[in-house]
Amino acid sequence: MTTTMLLDTDRALVQAATAVAKLRCRSANHTVAAAARTADGRVFTGVDLLHPTGGPCAEIVVLGTAATQGVGKLEAIVAVGDRGRGVVPPCGRCRQVLLDYHPGIRVIVGPLDALRKLPVADLLPERDTWADQRLDASAIVRTGQWPMPTVPTSRPASED
Ligand SMILES: [Zn+2]
Repeated sequence: MTTTMLLDTDRALVQAATAVAKLRCRSANHTVAAAARTADGRVFTGVDLLHPTGGPCAEIVVLGTAATQGVGKLEAIVAVGDRGRGVVPPCGRCRQVLLDYHPGIRVIVGPLDALRKLPVADLLPERDTWADQRLDASAIVRTGQWPMPTVPTSRPASED
């Protein structure tokens, strides 16, 4: 596991998510706020949208917000719970989505007095990758055939 010390910018990210949680997570519909940062310092925030159909977690909302602004790469993310719950770790779905969309992202986790930053891959030690399972949709349209999935024989070294 590769734990990294928190930088001042990481602490500022926790503060941003904490501020959004205090300001916007005041109902049963919104219970977690998240904040993510790009390498050049832009910060995006969001809250979860709890819903019985599987509304998105705050982390997913933040990824969508960043994508809406044209951001292709995020370097750090943190989620903070309502009612003073502090930093909350991403759920399993979010870990997988973070890994697939931002494989280099680091996730801030832990109690407020011992926060640490981990590569998202460390949160999924036995992981699958969406890219391995994605079908080539253009090939389906082009050929009218459903392609047979290919199974990679080894993972790239960057994923180790
Ligand atoms: Zn989640």
